[in-house]
Amino acid sequence: MTTKLQQKYEAVMLASAIGDTLGMPVESMKKEQIQKYTGGITEPIDAVLVKDEHGQLIKKDEFGPLKYWTRDLKKGEYTDDTYSAKAIAEALLEKGTNLEYITQRQVDIFNALKQPDGHIKGAWGGSTRIAFENINSGISPLEAGAENGIGTGPPMKMAPVGLYMHANLYHSSLPKLARNIGLTTHKDERAIAAGIVQADLVYRLLDDNISRDQFIDYAINSAKTNELPFDQTFIPEKGNITSKLEWIKENKNVSDDKAHEFLRSGSLVLEAYPFTIFMFQKYFDKPFKGLLKTINFGGDCDTTGAMFGALAGARHGYFFPEKWLEVLQDAKELKELGQEIYEIDKWRRECVDR
Ligand SMILES: [Mg+2]
Repeated sequence: MTTKLQQKYEAVMLASAIGDTLGMPVESMKKEQIQKYTGGITEPIDAVLVKDEHGQLIKKDEFGPLKYWTRDLKKGEYTDDTYSAKAIAEALLEKGTNLEYITQRQVDIFNALKQPDGHIKGAWGGSTRIAFENINSGISPLEAGAENGIGTGPPMKMAPVGLYMHANLYHSSLPKLARNIGLTTHKDERAIAAGIVQADLVYRLLDDNISRDQFIDYAINSAKTNELPFDQTFIPEKGNITSKLEWIKENKNVSDDKAHEFLRSGSLVLEAYPFTIFMFQKYFDKPFKGLLKTINFGGDCDTTGAMFGALAGARHGYFFPEKWLEVLQDAKELKELGQEIYEIDKWRRECVDR
């Protein structure tokens, strides 16, 4: 029989991919553009392509640019978030916390997705592309990360680290592994810290039925403990993850629009990550509604969707329509990865019981 905890492990992998594929069609669009061209995302669809009367893609409209990073993707297909998370989960199962292997597994899939015209299927983020090409040219994983990598690369893919550490009861090892995985692509402390916090929150939500206030406090404490001070003199984007999470505590009940006005949901980790946490705590007991609302704010919405989905899967298990698994790319494999990581825990428990 599948236990509730096993379902949560599976749901972390699946819901993260579902959030990714829900946001995929409209990645980088503004809220108004999503409404105009789709009427609002309510289920998986093909990438949205806006064409003029000659069949040419429209490059901008009255709300701003239209970028089509995911233009070659179809309904249920996922992007870099899930390619990376899946590779990390597979690496952890195959060789444990070996950083070189965890990195190489991601680089292998990145290389395999390169198309003849030079573009890389899956809309890979800029810092990750730089870092993985660095690794291709022989630079070691801990040196490879992009210098000003302040994107969402680390938190978007870190959920399997939370699962793996939970299964092994290695909470004290979680920050170091999550930090090192983050560093392999991003050298900005905020991006790294968000990755650690995301893995930590997945771990925490699997275990306990914590209250909404406890969740916010836990997120802040995790950021305070793990986010290192850094010199902001040369960095255009000010602030840190800790201060954004503290803002959420003070403003936890403000309207979604108000929170979005302040936090925003672009691809900077200082925007997309805190906004995801705001929405997750706001819709703490209504995860499906919260996930769709988060995605429909646009911006880096495949990633806000993936990060929200991972947290919601850890707290609620299967909270999404299971018929979506019929269209989700690699649904069977993702579910099995969750299950196999859970089995580590089961094996340990059985040994202890003996
Ligand atoms: Mg993506």
